[in-house]
Amino acid sequence: MARYDFSAPRLFVDAVLRSGDDVPLDRGQANYILNVLRLKPGDAVLVFNGRDGEWRGSLEAEGRRGARLRLSELARPQEPRPDLVLLFAPLKHARLDYMVQKAVEMGAGVLQPVITRRTQVARVNEERMRANAVEAAEQCGILAVPDVRLPVALDRALAGLEPHRLLVFCDEDAPSAGPLDALRPHANHPSKLAVAVGPEGGFTDEDRALVAAHERTVRVSLGSRILRADTAAVAALALVQATLGDWR
Ligand code: SAH
Repeated sequence: MARYDFSAPRLFVDAVLRSGDDVPLDRGQANYILNVLRLKPGDAVLVFNGRDGEWRGSLEAEGRRGARLRLSELARPQEPRPDLVLLFAPLKHARLDYMVQKAVEMGAGVLQPVITRRTQVARVNEERMRANAVEAAEQCGILAVPDVRLPVALDRALAGLEPHRLLVFCDEDAPSAGPLDALRPHANHPSKLAVAVGPEGGFTDEDRALVAAHERTVRVSLGSRILRADTAAVAALALVQATLGDWR
């Protein structure tokens, strides 16, 4: 990633971004910029919309509640969304918030909730997941906000993966052997990547059979301790990024 300016606040907006445009901030953003950060007219703010790159704008206040940005220059060109899919069973509120934020920071490009046999949370608040993804992207300098999908059954999620996409299957029942040894051989055969993490109740043998049927699956153990699903997701993404992904 190109170096980016940590000194200016960074906001996600829906508007098209072009030189000379004025971009209105929504109420929450205006309040944050004017009343929390106490920026003054003329101060620099960075904006991105996931399509047009990152732009530097200068603040124009409209009273104490409204604000616009006058775009001046492209700070960084648009970058593509990382091609890394995280399949995960939805969790309850705080853990799901954490998992989504951390998955974005770790470079997942698609967040696909999957319903497995033991998934306890069948409904997820998609808007909240998306808000968490946007917040994480604002915070960590990502220009392409990950695609947050609606929950689907595990078999459908697997059917949606290209057969050659390497699926890193985090299985609490896998024999405890080093995950690096399992992953490294695949570095010689570059591939699109996916990571699957199960629900708090764990995978059933039926789930395992579905996953094993995917053409390219590597089953990994994350050690002898049972991790919470949110921890497992972060640990697995770190291993995958370091051995096969964009940390190399
Ligand atoms: N209740 C289950 C544990 C589920 S943990 C049990 O006691 O067996 C939730 C998910 O995190 C698992 O499905 C798996 O995807 C991942 N996970 C947790 N610990 C793991 C480990 N040691 N190795 C591999 N995956 C693990």
